[in-house]
Amino acid sequence: MKDDNCIFCRIANGEIPSATLYEDDDFRVILDLNPASKGHALILPKEHAANLYELPADLAEKAMGVAKKVGTVLSAGLGCDGLNVLQNNGEQAGQTVFHFHMHLIPRYKGDEKTLHMTWDPGTLTPEDRDEITSLFK
Ligand code: 5GP
Ligand code: ZN
Repeated sequence: MKDDNCIFCRIANGEIPSATLYEDDDFRVILDLNPASKGHALILPKEHAANLYELPADLAEKAMGVAKKVGTVLSAGLGCDGLNVLQNNGEQAGQTVFHFHMHLIPRYKGDEKTLHMTWDPGTLTPEDRDEITSLFK
């Protein structure tokens, strides 16, 4: 179902024009209006889901197929040096539009001066390891 109050629903379903790179029955892939780098694209499902947790499993699987297809063409065509596939869930994770989307962000040598996607690595403690692995038992 699409949500008429959701900007990405309206873009994905063609009600608002966008620079579209790819479209099929389930997805539209568009260029980001405020790109992190040249070629920054967004994979939008046509059906509304606020985030990964709400997205139906079949669409979650298909989204990665679209990322592979579009990411491969972008990478070859732009001659970038790398590609980040990024997907934010929740404000703390940086999500600003609450319609599931995946970012494809081409990376170019030297861009780390202005494009930051790093963290200070921690150390996995035995307590955390046991707590987290027990969630899946
Ligand atoms: P988020 O921070 O939620 O993971 O990513 C939202 C992204 O959507 C941002 O990179 C932002 O630049 C992009 N964006 C927000 N509104 C629009 C829009 O109306 N059109 C397009 N093409 N991109 C948008
Ligand atoms: Zn939506």
